[in-house]
Amino acid sequence: MPRVRPLALRAALCLAAGELACGRPHGPGSEDMTSGPALVVLGTAQDGGLPHAACSCERCARARAEPARARRVASAAVVADGRAWLVDATPDLPDQLEALAAATARPRGAVDRAPLAGLFLTHAHMGHYLGLAYLGFEAIHTRALPVHASPRMAAFLGANAPWDQLVRLGNIELHPVADEPVALAGGVRVAALAVPHRDEYTDTLGFVVEGPHRRILYVPDSAPWSQWPRALPQVLADRKIDVALLDGSFYSPDELPGRDLSTLAHPLIVETMDLLQPLVDAGRVRVIFTHLNHSNPAVDPASAAAVELRRRGFEVAGDGLRVPL
Ligand SMILES: [Zn+2]
Ligand SMILES: [Zn+2]
Ligand SMILES: [Zn+2]
Repeated sequence: MPRVRPLALRAALCLAAGELACGRPHGPGSEDMTSGPALVVLGTAQDGGLPHAACSCERCARARAEPARARRVASAAVVADGRAWLVDATPDLPDQLEALAAATARPRGAVDRAPLAGLFLTHAHMGHYLGLAYLGFEAIHTRALPVHASPRMAAFLGANAPWDQLVRLGNIELHPVADEPVALAGGVRVAALAVPHRDEYTDTLGFVVEGPHRRILYVPDSAPWSQWPRALPQVLADRKIDVALLDGSFYSPDELPGRDLSTLAHPLIVETMDLLQPLVDAGRVRVIFTHLNHSNPAVDPASAAAVELRRRGFEVAGDGLRVPL
Protein backbone atom coordinates (compact mmCIF):
# COMPACT_ATOMS: atom_id res chain seq x y z
CA MET A 1 0.00 0.00 0.00
CA PRO A 2 1.61 3.29 -1.03
CA ARG A 3 2.03 5.71 1.82
CA VAL A 4 1.85 9.48 2.04
CA ARG A 5 5.15 11.15 1.19
CA PRO A 6 5.57 14.48 2.90
CA LEU A 7 8.29 15.58 0.49
CA ALA A 8 6.18 14.82 -2.56
CA LEU A 9 3.20 16.55 -1.00
CA ARG A 10 5.27 19.65 -0.24
CA ALA A 11 6.53 19.60 -3.80
CA ALA A 12 2.97 19.34 -5.11
CA LEU A 13 1.84 22.30 -3.03
CA CYS A 14 4.85 24.17 -4.31
CA LEU A 15 3.84 23.31 -7.88
CA ALA A 16 0.29 24.38 -7.22
CA ALA A 17 1.71 27.74 -6.17
CA GLY A 18 3.16 28.01 -9.69
CA GLU A 19 6.37 29.65 -8.54
CA LEU A 20 9.31 29.88 -10.91
CA ALA A 21 11.68 28.82 -8.17
CA CYS A 22 10.21 27.32 -5.05
CA GLY A 23 13.41 27.59 -3.03
CA ARG A 24 12.57 24.44 -1.09
CA PRO A 25 14.19 21.04 -1.62
CA HIS A 26 12.03 18.63 -3.63
CA GLY A 27 13.70 15.42 -2.62
CA PRO A 28 16.65 13.79 -0.96
CA GLY A 29 19.91 15.24 -2.20
CA SER A 30 18.32 18.44 -3.49
CA GLU A 31 20.49 21.53 -3.24
CA ASP A 32 19.67 25.20 -3.63
CA MET A 33 17.08 25.41 -6.41
CA THR A 34 17.45 29.05 -7.28
CA SER A 35 20.82 29.03 -9.03
CA GLY A 36 22.73 26.75 -11.36
CA PRO A 37 21.46 25.04 -14.49
CA ALA A 38 17.83 23.92 -14.41
CA LEU A 39 14.92 22.76 -16.46
CA VAL A 40 12.10 25.29 -16.17
CA VAL A 41 8.59 24.15 -17.08
CA LEU A 42 6.82 26.78 -19.21
CA GLY A 43 3.62 24.96 -20.07
CA THR A 44 1.78 21.84 -19.00
CA ALA A 45 -1.35 21.55 -21.17
CA GLN A 46 -2.04 19.28 -24.12
CA ASP A 47 -1.84 20.96 -27.55
CA GLY A 48 -5.34 22.49 -27.35
CA GLY A 49 -4.50 24.38 -24.13
CA LEU A 50 -6.40 24.97 -20.89
CA PRO A 51 -8.86 26.56 -21.41
CA HIS A 52 -9.05 24.43 -24.53
CA ALA A 53 -9.98 26.10 -27.80
CA ALA A 54 -13.77 26.22 -28.25
CA CYS A 55 -14.49 24.18 -25.10
CA SER A 56 -16.81 25.20 -22.30
CA CYS A 57 -16.49 22.11 -20.13
CA GLU A 58 -16.36 22.68 -16.38
CA ARG A 59 -12.54 22.77 -16.23
CA CYS A 60 -12.19 25.11 -19.24
CA ALA A 61 -14.90 27.46 -17.94
CA ARG A 62 -13.12 27.65 -14.56
CA ALA A 63 -9.76 28.29 -16.23
CA ARG A 64 -11.36 31.24 -18.10
CA ALA A 65 -12.97 32.62 -14.96
CA GLU A 66 -9.82 32.12 -12.84
CA PRO A 67 -6.68 32.65 -14.94
CA ALA A 68 -4.53 31.05 -12.20
CA ARG A 69 -6.12 27.75 -13.27
CA ALA A 70 -5.11 28.20 -16.93
CA ARG A 71 -2.15 26.23 -18.25
CA ARG A 72 0.02 27.10 -21.21
CA VAL A 73 0.73 24.42 -23.83
CA ALA A 74 3.46 21.95 -22.81
CA SER A 75 6.98 23.25 -23.11
CA ALA A 76 10.14 23.55 -21.03
CA ALA A 77 13.41 25.42 -21.16
CA VAL A 78 16.91 24.45 -20.18
CA VAL A 79 18.48 27.45 -18.45
CA ALA A 80 22.25 27.56 -17.94
CA ASP A 81 24.74 30.41 -17.58
CA GLY A 82 22.04 33.03 -18.19
CA ARG A 83 20.95 31.54 -21.54
CA ALA A 84 17.93 29.44 -22.43
CA TRP A 85 17.23 26.58 -24.80
CA LEU A 86 13.54 25.97 -25.38
CA VAL A 87 12.03 22.52 -25.83
CA ASP A 88 9.10 22.86 -28.26
CA ALA A 89 7.70 26.02 -29.83
CA THR A 90 4.04 26.16 -28.77
CA PRO A 91 1.26 28.53 -29.83
CA ASP A 92 1.87 30.15 -26.39
CA LEU A 93 5.48 31.02 -27.30
CA PRO A 94 5.16 34.80 -26.68
CA ASP A 95 3.99 34.28 -23.07
CA GLN A 96 6.55 31.55 -22.55
CA LEU A 97 9.44 33.76 -23.70
CA GLU A 98 8.20 36.47 -21.33
CA ALA A 99 8.09 33.97 -18.45
CA LEU A 100 11.63 32.95 -19.34
CA ALA A 101 13.03 36.48 -19.55
CA ALA A 102 13.50 36.67 -15.78
CA ALA A 103 15.71 33.58 -15.87
CA THR A 104 18.04 34.88 -18.59
CA ALA A 105 20.40 37.81 -18.72
CA ARG A 106 19.06 39.24 -21.98
CA PRO A 107 18.79 43.01 -22.44
CA ARG A 108 15.29 44.45 -21.90
CA GLY A 109 13.51 47.49 -23.32
CA ALA A 110 13.13 46.50 -26.99
CA VAL A 111 12.49 43.45 -29.16
CA ASP A 112 15.13 40.86 -28.22
CA ARG A 113 16.03 39.23 -31.52
CA ALA A 114 17.99 36.50 -29.71
CA PRO A 115 15.79 35.51 -26.76
CA LEU A 116 16.93 31.89 -27.05
CA ALA A 117 20.30 30.21 -27.47
CA GLY A 118 18.59 27.29 -29.21
CA LEU A 119 15.47 25.26 -29.65
CA PHE A 120 14.76 21.53 -29.48
CA LEU A 121 11.62 20.14 -31.13
CA THR A 122 9.87 16.90 -30.22
CA HIS A 123 7.53 16.58 -33.23
CA ALA A 124 5.20 18.25 -35.73
CA HIS A 125 1.87 18.33 -33.87
CA MET A 126 0.33 21.77 -33.50
CA GLY A 127 1.11 22.28 -29.83
CA HIS A 128 4.79 21.56 -30.31
CA TYR A 129 5.96 23.58 -33.31
CA LEU A 130 3.43 26.21 -34.49
CA GLY A 131 5.21 28.76 -32.28
CA LEU A 132 8.11 28.67 -34.76
CA ALA A 133 6.07 31.18 -36.76
CA TYR A 134 6.93 33.86 -34.17
CA LEU A 135 10.63 33.53 -35.03
CA GLY A 136 10.02 34.85 -38.55
CA PHE A 137 10.28 38.20 -40.28
CA GLU A 138 6.77 39.31 -39.21
CA ALA A 139 7.58 38.95 -35.51
CA ILE A 140 10.86 38.32 -33.59
CA HIS A 141 13.01 37.89 -36.72
CA THR A 142 15.70 35.78 -35.05
CA ARG A 143 19.10 35.36 -36.65
CA ALA A 144 20.44 31.80 -37.21
CA LEU A 145 18.69 30.34 -34.17
CA PRO A 146 19.86 26.71 -33.89
CA VAL A 147 16.86 24.36 -34.12
CA HIS A 148 17.58 20.76 -33.13
CA ALA A 149 15.09 18.22 -34.47
CA SER A 150 15.04 14.69 -35.80
CA PRO A 151 16.43 14.34 -39.33
CA ARG A 152 12.87 13.71 -40.57
CA MET A 153 11.49 16.78 -38.81
CA ALA A 154 14.38 18.96 -40.01
CA ALA A 155 13.73 17.83 -43.58
CA PHE A 156 10.00 18.50 -43.14
CA LEU A 157 10.62 22.07 -41.92
CA GLY A 158 13.11 22.76 -44.70
CA ALA A 159 10.79 21.55 -47.44
CA ASN A 160 7.36 22.90 -46.44
CA ALA A 161 5.80 26.36 -46.26
CA PRO A 162 5.69 28.42 -44.18
CA TRP A 163 8.61 26.90 -42.25
CA ASP A 164 10.99 26.81 -45.21
CA GLN A 165 10.95 30.63 -45.23
CA LEU A 166 12.48 30.65 -41.73
CA VAL A 167 15.38 28.68 -43.17
CA ARG A 168 15.62 30.72 -46.36
CA LEU A 169 15.66 34.06 -44.50
CA GLY A 170 18.19 32.75 -42.00
CA ASN A 171 15.89 33.03 -38.97
CA ILE A 172 16.65 29.48 -37.99
CA GLU A 173 19.42 26.99 -38.67
CA LEU A 174 18.36 23.36 -38.79
CA HIS A 175 20.49 20.87 -36.85
CA PRO A 176 19.32 17.28 -37.37
CA VAL A 177 20.09 15.42 -34.13
CA ALA A 178 22.59 12.58 -34.26
CA ASP A 179 23.69 9.99 -31.70
CA GLU A 180 26.01 12.43 -29.94
CA PRO A 181 24.40 14.66 -27.28
CA VAL A 182 24.31 18.41 -27.93
CA ALA A 183 26.48 20.36 -25.46
CA LEU A 184 24.80 23.55 -24.17
CA ALA A 185 26.44 25.53 -21.33
CA GLY A 186 27.23 24.96 -17.66
CA GLY A 187 28.06 21.30 -18.30
CA VAL A 188 24.55 20.54 -19.62
CA ARG A 189 24.08 18.12 -22.51
CA VAL A 190 20.92 17.10 -24.34
CA ALA A 191 20.46 13.72 -26.01
CA ALA A 192 17.51 12.66 -28.15
CA LEU A 193 15.43 9.54 -27.67
CA ALA A 194 13.05 8.07 -30.29
CA VAL A 195 9.48 7.98 -28.96
CA PRO A 196 6.59 6.03 -30.52
CA HIS A 197 3.71 8.45 -31.30
CA ARG A 198 1.39 9.27 -34.23
CA ASP A 199 3.77 10.23 -37.03
CA GLU A 200 1.72 11.85 -39.80
CA TYR A 201 4.40 14.37 -40.78
CA THR A 202 7.42 13.53 -38.65
CA ASP A 203 8.68 11.06 -36.10
CA THR A 204 8.79 12.02 -32.40
CA LEU A 205 11.65 12.60 -29.98
CA GLY A 206 11.96 12.80 -26.22
CA PHE A 207 15.02 14.40 -24.64
CA VAL A 208 17.43 13.42 -21.90
CA VAL A 209 18.83 16.57 -20.31
CA GLU A 210 22.00 15.78 -18.41
CA GLY A 211 23.34 18.35 -15.94
CA PRO A 212 26.16 18.35 -13.39
CA HIS A 213 23.88 16.78 -10.74
CA ARG A 214 20.84 15.27 -12.44
CA ARG A 215 19.46 13.65 -15.56
CA ILE A 216 15.95 14.60 -16.60
CA LEU A 217 13.85 12.73 -19.16
CA TYR A 218 11.31 14.91 -21.00
CA VAL A 219 8.63 13.02 -22.94
CA PRO A 220 5.50 15.19 -23.25
CA ASP A 221 3.79 13.11 -25.93
CA SER A 222 3.96 9.34 -26.34
CA ALA A 223 2.04 6.28 -27.40
CA PRO A 224 1.19 3.93 -24.48
CA TRP A 225 4.35 2.59 -22.83
CA SER A 226 3.49 -0.92 -24.11
CA GLN A 227 4.47 0.33 -27.58
CA TRP A 228 7.99 1.28 -26.52
CA PRO A 229 10.54 -1.23 -27.81
CA ARG A 230 12.24 -1.22 -24.38
CA ALA A 231 10.19 -1.06 -21.17
CA LEU A 232 10.04 2.42 -19.61
CA PRO A 233 11.50 1.35 -16.22
CA GLN A 234 14.44 -0.16 -18.13
CA VAL A 235 14.90 3.04 -20.17
CA LEU A 236 14.94 5.05 -16.93
CA ALA A 237 17.60 2.72 -15.53
CA ASP A 238 19.68 2.59 -18.76
CA ARG A 239 19.78 6.36 -18.97
CA LYS A 240 20.24 6.84 -15.19
CA ILE A 241 17.23 9.17 -15.04
CA ASP A 242 16.60 11.02 -11.77
CA VAL A 243 13.53 13.00 -12.82
CA ALA A 244 11.02 11.99 -15.52
CA LEU A 245 8.56 14.50 -16.97
CA LEU A 246 6.07 12.31 -18.76
CA ASP A 247 2.95 12.40 -20.93
CA GLY A 248 0.02 12.87 -18.53
CA SER A 249 -2.62 13.61 -21.19
CA PHE A 250 -5.31 11.45 -19.59
CA TYR A 251 -5.75 10.32 -16.01
CA SER A 252 -7.97 7.26 -16.31
CA PRO A 253 -10.50 5.54 -18.61
CA ASP A 254 -13.30 7.52 -16.87
CA GLU A 255 -12.42 10.50 -19.04
CA LEU A 256 -13.08 8.58 -22.22
CA PRO A 257 -16.51 6.99 -21.88
CA GLY A 258 -17.31 4.44 -24.57
CA ARG A 259 -13.75 4.53 -25.94
CA ASP A 260 -12.04 1.22 -26.78
CA LEU A 261 -8.96 1.49 -24.56
CA SER A 262 -6.87 -0.56 -26.99
CA THR A 263 -7.13 2.36 -29.45
CA LEU A 264 -5.86 4.96 -26.95
CA ALA A 265 -2.99 7.03 -28.32
CA HIS A 266 -1.49 7.95 -24.92
CA PRO A 267 -0.51 6.23 -21.69
CA LEU A 268 -3.03 6.78 -18.87
CA ILE A 269 -1.62 8.35 -15.68
CA VAL A 270 -3.04 5.46 -13.62
CA GLU A 271 -1.13 2.98 -15.83
CA THR A 272 2.07 4.99 -15.62
CA MET A 273 1.78 5.12 -11.83
CA ASP A 274 1.30 1.33 -11.65
CA LEU A 275 4.32 0.83 -13.91
CA LEU A 276 6.64 3.19 -12.02
CA GLN A 277 5.33 2.85 -8.43
CA PRO A 278 8.19 0.53 -7.34
CA LEU A 279 10.81 3.02 -8.60
CA VAL A 280 9.02 5.95 -6.96
CA ASP A 281 8.60 4.03 -3.69
CA ALA A 282 12.31 3.18 -3.73
CA GLY A 283 13.17 6.87 -4.25
CA ARG A 284 14.91 6.00 -7.52
CA VAL A 285 13.05 8.49 -9.71
CA ARG A 286 10.87 11.57 -9.33
CA VAL A 287 7.92 11.34 -11.76
CA ILE A 288 6.14 14.51 -12.87
CA PHE A 289 3.23 14.54 -15.32
CA THR A 290 2.81 17.21 -17.99
CA HIS A 291 0.84 17.72 -21.27
CA LEU A 292 -2.51 17.37 -19.45
CA ASN A 293 -5.64 17.29 -21.59
CA HIS A 294 -8.48 19.63 -20.55
CA SER A 295 -10.53 16.50 -19.73
CA ASN A 296 -7.96 15.40 -17.13
CA PRO A 297 -9.31 15.92 -13.58
CA ALA A 298 -5.72 16.24 -12.27
CA VAL A 299 -5.49 19.73 -13.83
CA ASP A 300 -7.19 20.79 -10.56
CA PRO A 301 -4.77 20.28 -7.63
CA ALA A 302 -7.79 19.83 -5.31
CA SER A 303 -9.40 17.04 -7.38
CA ALA A 304 -9.58 13.49 -6.04
CA ALA A 305 -7.32 12.43 -8.93
CA ALA A 306 -4.63 14.96 -8.04
CA VAL A 307 -4.84 14.07 -4.33
CA GLU A 308 -4.48 10.36 -5.10
CA LEU A 309 -1.57 11.01 -7.46
CA ARG A 310 0.29 12.93 -4.74
CA ARG A 311 -0.54 10.28 -2.13
CA ARG A 312 1.22 7.76 -4.36
CA GLY A 313 4.33 9.97 -4.54
CA PHE A 314 3.79 11.35 -8.06
CA GLU A 315 3.46 14.99 -9.14
CA VAL A 316 1.71 17.17 -11.71
CA ALA A 317 3.91 19.87 -13.20
CA GLY A 318 2.85 23.47 -12.83
CA ASP A 319 3.82 26.28 -15.19
CA GLY A 320 7.01 27.72 -13.68
CA LEU A 321 8.27 24.56 -11.97
CA ARG A 322 12.07 24.62 -11.82
CA VAL A 323 13.96 21.32 -11.64
CA PRO A 324 17.67 21.79 -10.93
CA LEU A 325 20.13 19.97 -13.15
ZN1 LIG B 1 1.03 17.17 -27.87
ZN1 LIG C 1 -12.65 21.68 -21.81
ZN1 LIG D 1 1.68 14.82 -30.53
